[in-house]
Amino acid sequence: MHYLDHNATSPLRPECLSAMTHALAVGGNPSSIHANGRAARAIVEEARIRVAALAGAAADTVIFTSGATESNNLALFGAVEGSLEGEDSKNGGGRITRIFVSAIEHSSVLASAGRLAERFPWLRLSHLPVTADGVIDLEALRVALREGKGRALVAVMAANNETGTVQPIAEVSKLVREAGALLLVDAVPAAGKTAIDFSLCDYMTLSAHKIGGPQGVGALLVREEVPLAPQLMGGGQQKGLRAGTENLSGIAGFGAAAHALADGEGERARIAHLRDHFEAALKAAAPDAIFFGHESARLCSTSAFAIPGLTAQTALIGLDLDGVMMSSGSTCSSGKVAVSHVLTAMGVEDRLASCALRASFGWSSSMEDVTAAVQSLLKLRERTLGKVAA
Ligand code: PMP
Repeated sequence: MHYLDHNATSPLRPECLSAMTHALAVGGNPSSIHANGRAARAIVEEARIRVAALAGAAADTVIFTSGATESNNLALFGAVEGSLEGEDSKNGGGRITRIFVSAIEHSSVLASAGRLAERFPWLRLSHLPVTADGVIDLEALRVALREGKGRALVAVMAANNETGTVQPIAEVSKLVREAGALLLVDAVPAAGKTAIDFSLCDYMTLSAHKIGGPQGVGALLVREEVPLAPQLMGGGQQKGLRAGTENLSGIAGFGAAAHALADGEGERARIAHLRDHFEAALKAAAPDAIFFGHESARLCSTSAFAIPGLTAQTALIGLDLDGVMMSSGSTCSSGKVAVSHVLTAMGVEDRLASCALRASFGWSSSMEDVTAAVQSLLKLRERTLGKVAA
């Protein structure tokens, strides 16, 4: 089998599995003061250091969550609600009245921002456009930040999960800071694939299962001085910001994945080589293939492409029969196939977008996977072209 869907989930690294098995056997609650509790606490705190290190952050910025969906919800709802509570105290910057999100954010950001705007009618929500190559339009952000009164919250992902395009976070951060606004960076696909820097933002989202850790655990990194109202209330864990007994084995696995990436230069170079080889081989044999976002900086892990005429649905079935696993560029929910909002924001027409596929590479990918994927795609293309000719 050939797994080329690391952006959907990256298989569990063996070192994560052993860290998790060890943690499961501890039998203690990290909040308990006895020996087993202390052993559990030590696991959580070691993972906190390792996860923070991924983004060059201090351990005490890390709040463990159930995944990046929760982290994005917590950041957005927490920031807005926190800014209401602490108008003249903790955050100093006053009430958040404007939210700017890039048009290519993950649905957990887009849907949370949409829900906030419904809940608080005085909150203005705008979507920031991207260029044809999928990079945020900095001029549009500059203009947006100048308009209107009150504090703004900006959400721009470090890199896109569908196309891999890397966003200019340093420039975004400069504009946001000059405007006295707050910045949320979803670093889920970027983590481990390119450098991510917490010092450029106020909130940062991470997910374990995209870096070879387990599903169902993530983190929100948050600066002490910015607003954050908890969304889960209970036993006061994690400084009262996210109540609930910590997911000990999940956190141990997350820490192990982050640790595996600490020295990830070699892994990144290997993954980039595989992705580049995949694209070169496909391009050479299928000159009609289109690669999305390839004119701008991209993550080493991702290739978003289309073979015009070969729909993603047909391709995914054919690939699967050949033992090759990929994603389509569209999302399928409740039986309806919707064209990717990311490709739409990049100006890609629906007809071509319906042919969009994503191959994503990671720690377990090999050259055999690449060869099998290219062979299968070329076979499917032949069939499609044959049908068109006949
Ligand atoms: N943000 C991005 C950019 C993602 O790709 C994903 C996962 N597809 C998420 C957030 C949500 O992560 P999780 O699965 O951990 O909830």
